[in-house]
Amino acid sequence: MNKKMIALLLTATFIAACGKDEGPVAAIELPIRYAAVNLADIATAEALTNLCANEETLFREHLAALESYDGAPTIAGYYTSLDSLFASIGTVAQTAQSLSGVHPDAELRTAGEACAQLLSKVETDMSLSRPLYDAVSQLDVTETDDVTRHSIKKLLLSFQLAGVDKDDATRERIRELNDNIVAIGQEFDRNIREDVRYLELESVEDLAGLPDDYIAAHQPNEDGKILISTQYPDVFPFFEYADRDDLRKKMVMLYGLRGYPKNEAVLRKLIEARYELAQLIGFNNYAELVTADKMAGSPERVAAFIEELKGYTGDVQDREYEMLLARLRQDDPDAERVETWQRSYVQSKVSREQYGVDSKVIRQYFSYKNSREGIFTMVQELFGVRIEPWETDTWHEDVESYSLFSGDVELGRFYLDMHPREGKYQHAAMFPFVNGIQGRQLPIAGLICNFPKGDEPIQFSQVVTFLHEFGHLIHWQFAGHHAWSNVSGITSEWDFVEAPSQMLQEWVWDYETVSQFARNAAGEALPAELHASMVAERDFGLGMGTRRQLSYAALSLAMYNRDPAEIDFDSLSEEITREFTKFEPLEGTHTWSAFGHLNGYSAIYYTYQWSLAIATDMFTQFKAAGLRNVEVAGAYRDKVLASGGSRPAEEMVTDFLGREISFEPYADRLRGEGS
Ligand SMILES: [Zn+2]
Repeated sequence: MNKKMIALLLTATFIAACGKDEGPVAAIELPIRYAAVNLADIATAEALTNLCANEETLFREHLAALESYDGAPTIAGYYTSLDSLFASIGTVAQTAQSLSGVHPDAELRTAGEACAQLLSKVETDMSLSRPLYDAVSQLDVTETDDVTRHSIKKLLLSFQLAGVDKDDATRERIRELNDNIVAIGQEFDRNIREDVRYLELESVEDLAGLPDDYIAAHQPNEDGKILISTQYPDVFPFFEYADRDDLRKKMVMLYGLRGYPKNEAVLRKLIEARYELAQLIGFNNYAELVTADKMAGSPERVAAFIEELKGYTGDVQDREYEMLLARLRQDDPDAERVETWQRSYVQSKVSREQYGVDSKVIRQYFSYKNSREGIFTMVQELFGVRIEPWETDTWHEDVESYSLFSGDVELGRFYLDMHPREGKYQHAAMFPFVNGIQGRQLPIAGLICNFPKGDEPIQFSQVVTFLHEFGHLIHWQFAGHHAWSNVSGITSEWDFVEAPSQMLQEWVWDYETVSQFARNAAGEALPAELHASMVAERDFGLGMGTRRQLSYAALSLAMYNRDPAEIDFDSLSEEITREFTKFEPLEGTHTWSAFGHLNGYSAIYYTYQWSLAIATDMFTQFKAAGLRNVEVAGAYRDKVLASGGSRPAEEMVTDFLGREISFEPYADRLRGEGS
């Protein structure tokens, strides 16, 4: 889709509501309604709860009207009405869910969560509604366009995968299982989140090797103890820098016990419920169900993919491991192997000593402000768009808001909520608010990150994260211009979703891009030699890191591609760790008990690597034409990003590449033969 077409689509007139009164025999008129939420109207928990309750009533009425409709279903009438209901629930539920992660008022966060849960029940009821399924099945698609046909096909598949075509008793059991799975999954996540453990240190000397600001932030408490928690900002620097080997080992032990033993029974219940669900719907196991609508398509294909990447990474993992062992032996000549608690520490030493890459030096050149300006400029130039301030209400004074324009046409809107505060979501993500619908509503999303403010230094890895999330954001904006909600926005297959975000990260490895914004306090640009050493160091550890990712993917698959009765968590997890990595599991740990993706991603952790393989392939076009080539960027925007979920991901990528998708470029990179 080119810019002109987007303009045309956006100004397209609304489809008139169907079924005007034609006398007593006419079928009842179906509502076509797109719910809109104004943040100013839901500034308190009470207001949000009231709005949500009102909307739920309207959604239930809308659903009842669709279910009792006895006329002949048409695309202009029935399908438009049904889709407007999906879109409306999406707007309210996503806004509530997003606010539950970012709002400064704890009560409002709880209200947001409750609202999202309430509306997810309406969605479950819709997914199991026989009248809706029957009506959609009867739609005549012979005269319609490809996107509408694809939307209907996709919706029918999602009904089938939900189990809509089963008998009443089975559907009732499915509904019960779905509710249980949500509750068990929340318990699994909560057990991880709330199980914060602490390493007690006796003196500041135990922190030898750690950066000064870390030591300053970890001074003895009134009892004279220094507490290091298992939370990310505490634990990762400790693994990387703490000189005391025995303390790192203790920390790895604490970290590997999170969620245990509580999650042993919880995980068992979770995989059993999903196994039963999959069998009721007609699959052998849950992995079959969850891959059925993905690019990979089956657990066998996923297993083959994992095996394929394993094959590319054996030699490079061995080489890297030998480098670590050699470095370890400089300090400890008797070392026979590198232990799991030594991995980050020694790897970081090799990076500094052999590649001259010191994150403490690099971070002086990056701030939130200069990174934001750099990313805005890059995206504007590359994709021919303009970012302007958007005057609107937000949930906190730190939140910035912008509009994205193509010429005079507004494509979408977004929030940047980029700095930490109490009670806020602690990782980095794009939160959806409104899914764009052609001629009806503009896409709105928020980037939620936790970076230092203004001109303070930020880590280079945070710049990479910023770009990654911005990749999701522009995908959401460009994709949100289709007629139907299930094909508009980021609605492509799940195993494609991380491709645009991972590909955009590539631009930080381009000196011409980075030197335009990376400046230190004195205004000096990041030196070219320093950037070159960062590029040289970039793939050091890629073999070991990819093998670790593959071990997670293999574990995630293995938990769900068999009868749960066959699974012993400890032995399965240890077996897979030994098969994929060089590092012996630390005895007494149970790392699977804090592997949160086993809930949210179930069997499909492989999707990260799958998306990355596709991102690497798509990036070959930029490598060949130049990273600032606007024709290639335009083709990528129109054929891939703007496609959303309106056609299979494989088709859009093939269209952009002008050939079939190949995993060879990623294989080359993994083998150390790329770039
Ligand atoms: Zn992502």
